[in-house]
Amino acid sequence: MATGIASGCGQLHLRKPVYLRNSYGNKAHSHSNVILNGTQNQIAWSSWVSNVLRVNRSSYPQCQVIKTNWKSRRGTIKSCQQRDGSVTRYFDFIVIGSGIAGLRYALEVAKHGTVAVITKDEPHESSTNYAQGGVSAVLCPLDSVENHIQDTIVAGAYLCDKETVKVVCTEGPERIRELIAIGASFDHGEDGNLDLAREGGHSHHRIVHAADMTGREIERALLEAVFKNPNVHVFQHHFAIDLLTTQDGSDIVCHGVDTIHTETKEVIRFISKVTLLASGGVGHIYPSTTNPTVATGDGMAMAHRAQAVISNMEFVQFHPTALADEGLPNIPSARENAFLITEAVRGDGGILYNLDMERFMPTYDERAELAPRDVVARSIDDQLKKRGEKYVLLDISHKPREKVLSHFPNIAAECLRHGLDITQQPIPVVPAAHYMCGGVRAGLEGETNVQGLYVAGEVACTGLHGANRLASNSLLEALVFARRAVQPSIDHVNVSRIEHGASSWWPRPIAPMVLGETILNKVICRTREVRKELQSIMWEYVGIVRSTSRLTAAEKRIRELELEWETYLFQHGWEPTMVGVEACEMRNLFCCANLVVSSALSRQESRGLHYTTDFPHVEESERLPTVIFPSQRNSTWSTRQLHAQPIS
Ligand SMILES: Cc1cc2nc3c(=O)[nH]c(=O)nc-3n(C[C@H](O)[C@H](O)[C@H](O)COP(=O)(O)OP(=O)(O)OC[C@H]3O[C@@H](n4cnc5c(N)ncnc54)[C@H](O)[C@@H]3O)c2cc1C
Repeated sequence: MATGIASGCGQLHLRKPVYLRNSYGNKAHSHSNVILNGTQNQIAWSSWVSNVLRVNRSSYPQCQVIKTNWKSRRGTIKSCQQRDGSVTRYFDFIVIGSGIAGLRYALEVAKHGTVAVITKDEPHESSTNYAQGGVSAVLCPLDSVENHIQDTIVAGAYLCDKETVKVVCTEGPERIRELIAIGASFDHGEDGNLDLAREGGHSHHRIVHAADMTGREIERALLEAVFKNPNVHVFQHHFAIDLLTTQDGSDIVCHGVDTIHTETKEVIRFISKVTLLASGGVGHIYPSTTNPTVATGDGMAMAHRAQAVISNMEFVQFHPTALADEGLPNIPSARENAFLITEAVRGDGGILYNLDMERFMPTYDERAELAPRDVVARSIDDQLKKRGEKYVLLDISHKPREKVLSHFPNIAAECLRHGLDITQQPIPVVPAAHYMCGGVRAGLEGETNVQGLYVAGEVACTGLHGANRLASNSLLEALVFARRAVQPSIDHVNVSRIEHGASSWWPRPIAPMVLGETILNKVICRTREVRKELQSIMWEYVGIVRSTSRLTAAEKRIRELELEWETYLFQHGWEPTMVGVEACEMRNLFCCANLVVSSALSRQESRGLHYTTDFPHVEESERLPTVIFPSQRNSTWSTRQLHAQPIS
């Protein structure tokens, strides 16, 4: 596992000591030459960074054909075909992900050049599209930015980066106005003003929403604008495999990304001066998650392999109230992602009961149902364990029928589809993995320690959320950082150049069709089984309530499972540079699961979303972000870039 775990100060941007975990799980002071540079917005990288990325620039055939595929507003977009038929596309900006972060950024940088939006499924398929509650921002005169800052910091268990919080809360209202100008339509009250909802952890009404389908409306508006923009080209069903990087002195530089077309299995290389990683979260390291199937942590794993710094991965948010299918009158067939019952149901007066219809939240927290998510999730977890039950009940049926139906039409329809009328009966709910507060460590402009690589949205760790995300702050964070990454990206494009022939610097990944259908099917089947095994290890040992012994057991079991899976693959003719969607997702899931477990083991306290029975209290000395530095011990396939493989 390629991690050195550092503890830093509460600010993300300061110089800090570095600790490297030794094999016994203890922290040992080491690698003191590895620092995060102390300038405010910049993460610099010292010269120790691995040289595994060095590439032999003369080993690969040069580009043969340059042909023009599209006309763009500013010049032409070039596509280049190698002798072996493989294709390279050149853009000014590459965006990986078509959720709120990627699309918002794409629309802005498109004013300055050509943009490729690469997305692994249909363009709308993203967590954004499923967001129900809304976006938080101070838009009411009775509210204030200071209130929003305070609520965010309290929810984040005082681990938030104060400067980031201030920036996000201050810039939020303007970002919402821009979104409305782009075409997003939000609910208004009778007075003609935006109808601002209130959610758990917020001291004021400040959630902008479109019924309980806010994300769908945002995604619709952004996609519509993107499709109208002649400078933005959306490449759907393109799965990003690995970032293309080189080492320039002590700097790692990103030049683009390799992708595989998920339907044609064609490998396509994208080259550009700037890449924005906006690939969302990692919910599918757990068996039950509200995240769509695209959320397999690809961006975090790619960035980690590319030597980017990763932070705060122990803080996995479990949403307390996903629909518990087994409690529905007509149980649906197995779903790939759990259906979310938004926080706004509790905000609107929903009450949580156990199966004996005893209200339990007031016994855990004085804020009762309006307590932050981690408190509610742990309380439900405790009830379920104590009572040996599979779900609890969330009741909103005491509210006027019309109000319930107009506020939660999507939830009402989904429940009714399975025989439950939420205006008459309580909703069966259970916690599910929902949001990753950690990710690729970003400065205030979305910059990473990899030159030319920016991050925004759930893949990023900006320091906003600290140890726990305040409801509806993630869409806001994505909007703010997508916008903040624009100017530095443009500056970077203006000062850097794409070298002609860059495409040939790295060996091409190969599609595994050469293995033949029978072998390939065997590999895919085994990979699916392994995925389920990994998910159940994560649920059982790295869930809502943790302990050192369980985390250590998880670490061991994951290591064994990964080794066993790799061995299976390579014994069946798989090669290190081979790429298939299932296998690539699997290696990313392994990589992220390892990052979560390592981070969780290094935090010797309970704070926010990380609760461990061995250290049940908050420790002031531990009020530091967890920082994972890449190491040179790239011992597994999941931690090595494909092009960093030994070339035979
Ligand atoms: C059910 C649900 C409800 C939520 N409700 C709210 C809410 O009310 N308010 C709030 O603030 N937050 C909410 N969240 C969280 C919020 O929706 C997400 O954090 C946010 O939408 C993330 O946006 P994003 O642009 O970073 O990523 P996403 O919207 O997830 O988009 C990621 C994109 O990256 C693409 N991608 C991923 N991997 C690859 C790859 N290897 N190659 C190519 N493309 C790739 C995906 O296909 C997708 O297009 C909710 C989340 C869920 C799941």
